Amino acid sequence: MSGNLNRQLSEQEFDAKLSLADFVVGDSDDPLVPPLAFTQWRQAGAWEATLYEPELLATADARTTINYGGKPRSVINLCSYNYLGLANRPEVIAAARDALSKYGMGACGSPLLSGMTDLHRQLERRVAEFLDREDAMLFNSGFGGALGTISGLLRKTDVAVLDNRSHLSLRDGAVLSRSRVDRFEHNDPASLDAALCRRKGKRQLVIVEGIYSMDGDFASLDGLLDVAESHNASVFIDEAHSMLGCGANGRGAAEHFGVEKRIPLVYGTFSKAFGALGGFVTGRVETLDYLRYYAHSYAYSCALPPAIVAAVLRALEIAGHEPELRDRLWSNAKYFRDHLNAIGIDTGASTTYIMPLVVGDRARMYQLGHELRRRGLFVAPVDFPAVPEDRICFRACVTANHTRADLDEALNIVADTFAPALRHPESLRG
Ligand code: PMP
Repeated sequence: MSGNLNRQLSEQEFDAKLSLADFVVGDSDDPLVPPLAFTQWRQAGAWEATLYEPELLATADARTTINYGGKPRSVINLCSYNYLGLANRPEVIAAARDALSKYGMGACGSPLLSGMTDLHRQLERRVAEFLDREDAMLFNSGFGGALGTISGLLRKTDVAVLDNRSHLSLRDGAVLSRSRVDRFEHNDPASLDAALCRRKGKRQLVIVEGIYSMDGDFASLDGLLDVAESHNASVFIDEAHSMLGCGANGRGAAEHFGVEKRIPLVYGTFSKAFGALGGFVTGRVETLDYLRYYAHSYAYSCALPPAIVAAVLRALEIAGHEPELRDRLWSNAKYFRDHLNAIGIDTGASTTYIMPLVVGDRARMYQLGHELRRRGLFVAPVDFPAVPEDRICFRACVTANHTRADLDEALNIVADTFAPALRHPESLRG
């Protein structure tokens, strides 16, 4: 079922078959009034929906407290993107606090006009130096950075060629640019080759991610770059989840695979391993000089608050001095995934610190989701259409700050609930 549901729902349709994909087109004559069926579906799914927008009552650390059913619940946190634990490092918080005292709360203007501070400039330089690029620019959101960069560079007669698992910010950027948007099969060089052949003669931009945020697998960079180069197509990489976490120096998946020189434009976010907020893009001066005027989300949007910039500067410095954080992240990820697999959990194609725990059935996933929260394990529900229906899952993000005791306790909870439930679904308590 998908697309257009313009009528009252029957009883049976309230069951687990419907998804967000069914309510894109509405039946009302006022855009502020959502489809009636959507409102009914939301009411019918109120219990499931309580797993979304959970309220954290403390920092996004390896253990935290959430509001569950109106009460504080202490949980092992496998939801947050705080991969190196930098969001709650005292030095990072102190840097933000100092900048807050000196610069006040907001930047109060677009970077082009009044929002740029010396801290912003310093961070631009540090990011460019860190990634050995000519220049860098900052965005007040990761999503906005991807949107602005792609729509700022591509034009109507161009072609954006995206991996079909690409993040929505990349897809939306391509759509906003009004360029032609083509897809290739996930990580498949032959499919990329076919896509590039179809639009020969056009300016083409190949768009990939370092680590895919739902599946937790790396881009097959070598093979994809060979194909892009054979067509003289430029490449843009989204290192949102891989920056600081991957590569000997934390320079992302491109460093991990030794292909940095082959990728002219690198984008990342400060909302994951940096533990803060915002985005950046880094590459050649002439590219970014153009982009500063044509990326609307840069030129027409307030700059990052200076306190955030100060925190990111400090986080970058710590990540550079403490490679052991990355080592811990990777050994924790391997430990957790190996043990999950040993108790029969399907973690899909994950080879990184992001891993799906595949359930493959919506009703079962929501029941398990509540059971896991009751028992103190905080993982994210991932429903269709974010993933195919037979891959409905939880997503777990392991961090450097998890102790082996945290991971063992999480594994025990999973073994107690998830694994038997997959074998005997009737054992679930709703
Ligand atoms: N790219 C990818 C691959 C992402 O996963 C995300 C968000 N999770 C973004 C971009 C957007 O980043 P932000 O949350 O910092 O806006």
